[in-house]
Amino acid sequence: MTKEMRKIAIYGKGGIGKSTTTQNTVAGLAEKGKKIMVVGCDPKADSTRLLLGGLAQKTVLDTLREEGEDIDIDDIIKVGYSNTRNVESGGPEPGVGCAGRGIITSINLLEQLGAYDDEWDLDYAFYDVLGDVVCGGFAMPIRDGKAQEIYIVVSGEMMAMYAANNICKGIVKYAEAGGCRLGGLICNSRKVDNERQMIEKLAEKLGTQMLHFVPRENMVQRAEIHRQTVIEFAPEHAQADEYRALATKMDENKMFVVPNPLEIEELEKLLIDYGIC
Ligand code: ADP
Ligand code: MG
Repeated sequence: MTKEMRKIAIYGKGGIGKSTTTQNTVAGLAEKGKKIMVVGCDPKADSTRLLLGGLAQKTVLDTLREEGEDIDIDDIIKVGYSNTRNVESGGPEPGVGCAGRGIITSINLLEQLGAYDDEWDLDYAFYDVLGDVVCGGFAMPIRDGKAQEIYIVVSGEMMAMYAANNICKGIVKYAEAGGCRLGGLICNSRKVDNERQMIEKLAEKLGTQMLHFVPRENMVQRAEIHRQTVIEFAPEHAQADEYRALATKMDENKMFVVPNPLEIEELEKLLIDYGIC
């Protein structure tokens, strides 16, 4: 019997910690024996750096540009930490063309080349998506049933919460046709006052859960300088256990909802109530 692959999209404001959190969670899942593909959907093309021990040599768009249409699956998928399979969509030169185009091209090409086929025995495919807005190519991973599960990385900073709420609006839009559901918020702490309680409250108001609270920790950056996840670089460190805990919660998660986005006044009230202003 073929197993059911879970396709997960990770969204969140730029710089919030999507790529770091995704790769560390993936490393945690890989430690548990899961087989995983990671698809970077950010034109920055740094979604797989910690799993590959450096930036991918070539993105899907670069490969298409240089080698034409005759592409082999190994040209775009690079095997990294613990046999993870890694892809970077890439993007156009900054300021030229639609930044989301690479995502559409990549997912179509991966499908054509059989990257999701049973022979790879994948448990998970992760899409690491830039999510200040969910439109065009950036909506691709949650359209047409491509990814069923979404997690939003957020912190107690206003703009991160604002982006999370906007992403929820995008999810509502695509939930009906594509069937995607929100699996929870991941709070990547910025050490804002009352952050844990505030994000738990935000999650409750959205009709979802805070899946995990990831502490801010300098070891994350130390590992990053060495081009590794914390799990690889400092497996005994408490932060590695945080990512393992997040991986386990994701693996066991059963709560999937269509969220109720907040009105802007309600979001602002939350910030005031929790003592930021
Ligand atoms: P995104 O993919 O959302 O743009 P990144 O994952 O690249 O964001 O993270 C941005 C920066 O924040 C990186 O330099 C990363 O090391 C740092 N960072 C992310 N999470 C943490 C954390 N929990 N503790 C400390 N630094 C973090
Ligand atoms: Mg990123």
